[in-house]
Amino acid sequence: MRHRSNTALKRKSLLTAKVLRWYRKNGRQLPWRNEDDPYRVLVSEVMLQQTQVSRVLTKYPRFLKRFPSLRRLTNAKTSDVIKAWEGMGYNNRALRLQRLAVTVLDEHRGRIPGNIQELEALPGIGRYTAHALACFSFGQQVPVVDTNIKRVLTRLRSPQSRRPAPKEEDIWDLAESLLPRQHSHDWNQALMDLGATICTAAQPKCDRCPLVDLCPSAYRVSRRTRAAKKPEPGRDGIPNRIYRGRTIQALRELKTPGGMTRTALARKIKPNFTSVDRRWSESLLRRLQKDGLIRIRAGNRISLPE
Ligand code: SF4
Repeated sequence: MRHRSNTALKRKSLLTAKVLRWYRKNGRQLPWRNEDDPYRVLVSEVMLQQTQVSRVLTKYPRFLKRFPSLRRLTNAKTSDVIKAWEGMGYNNRALRLQRLAVTVLDEHRGRIPGNIQELEALPGIGRYTAHALACFSFGQQVPVVDTNIKRVLTRLRSPQSRRPAPKEEDIWDLAESLLPRQHSHDWNQALMDLGATICTAAQPKCDRCPLVDLCPSAYRVSRRTRAAKKPEPGRDGIPNRIYRGRTIQALRELKTPGGMTRTALARKIKPNFTSVDRRWSESLLRRLQKDGLIRIRAGNRISLPE
């Protein structure tokens, strides 16, 4: 028993040393890594949720220049926040971020709390974001589990081919048990980078991985054929998600106040629009209105919300 726990301790310290050494040499230089201001970290986390790092790199400084503080974000017109989100996709996140900022102002006097329970109680903040803020902004020694880290830990835990896949809770427990105290910031960032650049989903580069000697899945990750994706709802082979983005973009680019008519907007987002598309386009607009991303004004003209 004692022998087993010694072996586990040795493995853990070897793992820590290898990961941190690799990170010092290979870690990505990302601007939000030098931040501990909770607002700035929050903005980066929300942006990174559904957008590639390369794109966030250009949009993140631009957004912060426009809204340099949580208070400035809460005071902004929603239409300006949506405009500043241009190029990021999934515009709902811009609204969520502003609503979150308003809640922080109302309930925490504008200071993002450092306590995980309080963070998780905020609208739109899940377990991952709460832990990321606690670790990266408040220096807490807590694990972070995003998609990349989950993949690395799953493969380190047992041969990847073994079924069933571990439960979410088991991965959090493993992350907690492996966390090197006093190094949690670099450790969490390092695992993210390892998952994003080496231990990738489709083709892990085990030959370049610092953990190859310790990993039971090394060179054993089978390339499973991906399950066919369920087709997304859309029109003429284009997903509604794209039409939603086009609608918001058309309204962003509008130079004159007063909004656009439904037909002009429909033709803008779908150049071959005809009357048979009318029901579909109405339902698209209703969804956008329900999500708070557009406003249908008197006279049936459509604009961004104020
Ligand atoms: S050895 Fe391969 S499977 Fe294991 S952590 Fe490294 S890249 Fe991933």
